[in-house]
Amino acid sequence: MRVLILGGTGDANRLAAAVAKDARIDAVLSYAGRTENPTQPPISWRVGGFGGIDGLADYLRAENIARVVDATHPFAAQISAHAVTACAVAAVPLLALERPPWQRAPGDRWIEADDLEAAAEALGAAPRRVFLGIGRVHLETFAAYSQHAYLVRLVDPPRAPLPLPDAEVIVARGPFDRAGDRAMLTNFCAEIVVARNAGGYSASAKIEAARDLALPVVMVRRPLVPVRAKVETVAEVMRWLGHDKTPAERGV
Ligand code: NAP
Repeated sequence: MRVLILGGTGDANRLAAAVAKDARIDAVLSYAGRTENPTQPPISWRVGGFGGIDGLADYLRAENIARVVDATHPFAAQISAHAVTACAVAAVPLLALERPPWQRAPGDRWIEADDLEAAAEALGAAPRRVFLGIGRVHLETFAAYSQHAYLVRLVDPPRAPLPLPDAEVIVARGPFDRAGDRAMLTNFCAEIVVARNAGGYSASAKIEAARDLALPVVMVRRPLVPVRAKVETVAEVMRWLGHDKTPAERGV
């Protein structure tokens, strides 16, 4: 069975490792190409956009794809929406592997925001020391909030000056651990953390560290994606791939 895995997450790589052990599945993992050295999966892989909905539908047909698993990041809303429409057009069953969002725990001081612009506003007018755990692409949003001092953690070293006048950079790839993130926040004298509600364990250390240090967290809610069948674990995806029926047929 030819399977397309839309990736760019640890979950997608764990799924790739699982399908590699099943000789009945011939899967290809797709990366957008945002990081310089993507994790090499044990299955075939490709890099780059498909060219919108039509491009993805064409790819599904040309590559004779029988199933698509959307294992992209919960904030990668565009590719997820494209997958819903392209799979409908090409009549290919789609399943999303989507980790549950983090839930507020005792001791958490969350300020929830609908998007990054609202998160930047929520930092307030007074200068603060801010840890931005949001990746590189969206730093521009905070450029207008230059009264703050930022600590930014990135997967790749920045190739151009950051849009933030006062920013320290840490280059590191997750998963991160709670004690390490606590030390990072303490060393920076962070007063507040900005995070997107990605869920999962590989990026949760900063949330736990903020809880340990009683720091407020501006938590950005997930964007909306069109309704699709979804599961939370690799094991559930593997069961779906081992069945002839689509999730709709099985009432998932
Ligand atoms: P996005 O806004 O949803 O997608 C923008 C465009 O990038 C898509 O329309 C598609 O281009 C291309 N694209 C995205 N994911 C792709 C994939 N897996 N394979 C091939 N093309 C893909 O995506 P994003 O937020 O920029 O995220 C890009 C990638 O980084 C995703 O794969 C995601 O899993 C990963 N990632 C994202 C975040 C995040 O915070 N957003 C965090 C960690 C990892 P075409 O229209 O040309 O097909």
